[in-house]
Amino acid sequence: MELKEIYSSKNTNKPVISYEVFPPKDDTDGQKLEQLFVELKKLLKFKPSLISVTYGAGGSNQTESIEIIKRIKSELMTTPMPHFTCVSTSEKNIKQYLTTLEQLGIENILALRGDIPQNQEICHDFRYASQLVECIKRESRLSVAVAGYPEGHKEAESLEKDIHYLKQKVDKGADVIYTQLFFNNRHYFDFAEKCQKFGITAPIIPGILPVTNFKTLEKMTSLCKVDIPKELYDKLNAHSEDKEYIKNTGIEYATKQCQELIDAGVDGLHFYTLNKEYATGKILSNLL
Ligand code: FAD
Repeated sequence: MELKEIYSSKNTNKPVISYEVFPPKDDTDGQKLEQLFVELKKLLKFKPSLISVTYGAGGSNQTESIEIIKRIKSELMTTPMPHFTCVSTSEKNIKQYLTTLEQLGIENILALRGDIPQNQEICHDFRYASQLVECIKRESRLSVAVAGYPEGHKEAESLEKDIHYLKQKVDKGADVIYTQLFFNNRHYFDFAEKCQKFGITAPIIPGILPVTNFKTLEKMTSLCKVDIPKELYDKLNAHSEDKEYIKNTGIEYATKQCQELIDAGVDGLHFYTLNKEYATGKILSNLL
């Protein structure tokens, strides 16, 4: 099903549920891939409308991504959405990849620039995701999603400038915006309001990261500009070695966060599952 259809046919009381997974690393014997599908099968009971699959910088895991995408469609009977980054890829390769996806019957794609690789030659065919969106719309029939940053992208001069460029991605044909993770809903609400003022009408789907590990949280938030509310940070920091405490606190926090977003009428919730069922499953059981 195409993105537009997924979000326009949303049940008025319930948000559209979607998950993000990544191709497992160092998986020579394929066991981690099998485990990923065990986890995803458990999450099917919450009737996800979409499962997105991340893309390694420069296409490092393209083969694994495609394998997962195929299995989401054929085994889980769920709509897959491959991510795709353009920063280190030539226009020719992009067109080939789009053809491959269409031949597999894929209908949606998350179009990204990707992080600029350090100390590496980058291909300059595309500098920004908006150019990739334009190319996808010209070369394929795929429905396109893009990334949005409630607290501003780390390179952006200001949140307003960032939203200005986000509007360009929507004007070039993006149907839906998925946000970077955030913990303070105020940032999401302010961002959504600003986007509306800029004339962005595409659904803005909040990206939710259930905290399950303090070190992972610190690593992820150091990579992007994300504010962790002091109260949450202090709680987690005081028990950083207590795995059960971190998990339970993360689930409790994300449940409240999601409930507030649902009450505010968001179109969907996109869970960064980190390839695990437990936390996302608990949160959804608490909510639905
Ligand atoms: P863009 O929209 O191109 O923006 C990048 C920066 O350039 C921003 O600061 C923007 O303000 C600025 N900008 C945009 N257009 C212009 C212009 N015309 N002139 C001047 N400045 C401009 N990364 C991966 O490697 N793989 C993934 O699978 C992946 N999935 C993601 C999923 C989501 C939901 C999100 C939020 C991020 C994901 N990322 C992923 C990370 C993403 O690739 C990085 O955040 C990257 O640095 C920016 O990508 P973008 O598509 O937002 O870039």
